[in-house]
Amino acid sequence: MRRPWVAGNWKMNGLRETNALLAKGLSLLAAEREIDICVAPPAPYWLQVVDAMEGTGVRVLAQNVSEHAGGAHTGEHSVSMLQDCGLAGALVGHSERRQLHGETDVVVAEKFAAVRKAGLQPVLCVGETLDERRAGETLSVVSRQLLAVLESQGPDAFDGAVLAYEPVWAIGTGLTATPEQAQAVHASLRAVMAAFDADRAGQLRIVYGGSVKAGNAAGLFAMPDIDGALVGGASLDAQEFLGICHAVR
Ligand code: 13P
Repeated sequence: MRRPWVAGNWKMNGLRETNALLAKGLSLLAAEREIDICVAPPAPYWLQVVDAMEGTGVRVLAQNVSEHAGGAHTGEHSVSMLQDCGLAGALVGHSERRQLHGETDVVVAEKFAAVRKAGLQPVLCVGETLDERRAGETLSVVSRQLLAVLESQGPDAFDGAVLAYEPVWAIGTGLTATPEQAQAVHASLRAVMAAFDADRAGQLRIVYGGSVKAGNAAGLFAMPDIDGALVGGASLDAQEFLGICHAVR
């Protein structure tokens, strides 16, 4: 049985005051021990949110991390900094990083390795664009993105990790993949993993992201290979995020 996992990616939103209100709302999640719940605030607010979530069981993730250990990398932050601030892990390869900041599969795999080596939780994000979906390339794109890590680091690299399928066309657009569309991709991703290690494929948590809301979460979570959600916009509203967490089976 895979333990459900739900995370809120706040992206570049929030200031100290709104963060404090949101964190207060989320502290109601303290009782949700049967699922893993995370939030990923912007880096300047890591410590604020780590403090605010203390004792609630909600863990804090980075939205991105450098593949380098330290040194002359202006504007970046290292895995040691994540650890020092009490973070539990990091998203790697979010489509906004891939598309807007030129992150390649190779760089994303290096970031994944850096997070894993530090003993933190990597969350590998994969997903196709609308053009790729229309061209029938969905499975080849997401498989390629997964294989970039699997082939270089092996299936055991995914112990404790999370794989997030986020179709780019569904992010922030209000267009959610149907549960059946998402399930088809999740099952294919699990099959890619199973070709390397069937047991680990059965244990890997694959979560869906892209316009998830309290109202559509239950339908997604009812699918056999959807193990949770990576939530953007709806995670900025505590009630909505709580609703998503409650919808998980
Ligand atoms: P939305 O939920 O706003 O579509 O964002 C999804 C996402 O990118 C989470 O990482």
